[in-house]
Amino acid sequence: MKRLLLVRYGEIALKGLNRNYFVDTLADNIRNALKYFPGVKTEKIQGRIALWGVDDENESEVIEKLKKVFGISKITRAVETDSDIEDIKEASLEVIKGLKGETFKVESRRGDKNFPLKSPEISSAVGEYILRNTDCFKVDVHHPDIVLGVEVRPKSYITFSDVPGEKGMPLGTGGSGGIMISGGIDSPVAAYLMAKRGMKMTGIHFHSYPFTSLDAQKKVERLGGKLAEYNNGFDLAMISLTDIQQQIISKCDDRYLTVILRRFMIRCAERFARENGIQMLVTGESLGQVASQTTDSIICTDAAADMPVLRPLIAMDKDEIIAIAQKIDTYSISIEPYEDCCTVFVPKHPQTHPVLEKVLAQEQRLECERLIDEAMAGVKLINIE
Ligand code: ATP
Ligand code: MG
Repeated sequence: MKRLLLVRYGEIALKGLNRNYFVDTLADNIRNALKYFPGVKTEKIQGRIALWGVDDENESEVIEKLKKVFGISKITRAVETDSDIEDIKEASLEVIKGLKGETFKVESRRGDKNFPLKSPEISSAVGEYILRNTDCFKVDVHHPDIVLGVEVRPKSYITFSDVPGEKGMPLGTGGSGGIMISGGIDSPVAAYLMAKRGMKMTGIHFHSYPFTSLDAQKKVERLGGKLAEYNNGFDLAMISLTDIQQQIISKCDDRYLTVILRRFMIRCAERFARENGIQMLVTGESLGQVASQTTDSIICTDAAADMPVLRPLIAMDKDEIIAIAQKIDTYSISIEPYEDCCTVFVPKHPQTHPVLEKVLAQEQRLECERLIDEAMAGVKLINIE
């Protein structure tokens, strides 16, 4: 009888011919997440991934790590035994003796159709054996304290407790994205949601140092640290918008300041993305949340981009976004009161319905390409493990 964790995957199981690619990527990601547990080994077995070498000492830590690996639907504690009914009964008895509870139920699945007993027969044989050899357990098929699973395959598995996984798709199977990350609540959530669909994320942050502080940048790094746990590390590009912002302020109508600044952000982010093999940009915008997130504003900012800009939060309410931020533990960092480059010079009356022609006319007053070249020459890259 050997103890193991069984990792089950949800949506990947629906994949056809390229399922192996998804499962192999998931297995790689699991190994990566568990790299500090050298004793833990992975093995692909029929529709799941087995983890060997997990013991009492490291189990809860291993499970915490697995809960941040996308593509896992469930993590199940189990023991392996030979596919012989006597071995299965014995292993089930051993397992249940170690569990807390008074009532139990056995649920069997016969994956190997050559096994002589049918699923209900396996369940009753195991149930009877437990009742005969213990005196503290009763059967309750409706509300049992313990559900003992028996899965019969070439080998058999007695399963006894599940932890839900994050679901989603294995990181790396969904291409790459550049998350435009501020210090706010929304963009880290947007990054998490895209990573959950398998998109490997790289952060792009704009600051206006010295008008924004170094602490504000550190805050973004700490947010990156939280995202790194889901994203297998997090690379973060820091780009200064100080000169661009000052040029806009001195030369453009201040009602357009916000939208022009956002268009510069998009263009710099896109330049960085192209130079670094990143396919798409991602923002934390949510429709109508602020002046720069009206449909008219989005039309104007989007027009500055030549690559797709994904906005996974566009249809979400703030409280839904906050709930996710709390779950991924970025919320308490996000609400720390540091200034953002967008908030340093806020116009009194921002244009909530900008018209692209007018925005373009304003931008004529600036040497856009030169400003972008200069900003990009000073990019600082930070690598967060
Ligand atoms: P967030 O909570 O993510 O800061 P927000 O509600 O404050 O969003 P805006 O300030 O309008 O909204 O920003 C919208 C989006 O633009 C952000 O979600 C982010 O993707 C991007 N963005 C804003 N400021 C920055 C910045 N300083 N650096 C990088 N991206 C930014
Ligand atoms: Mg913000």
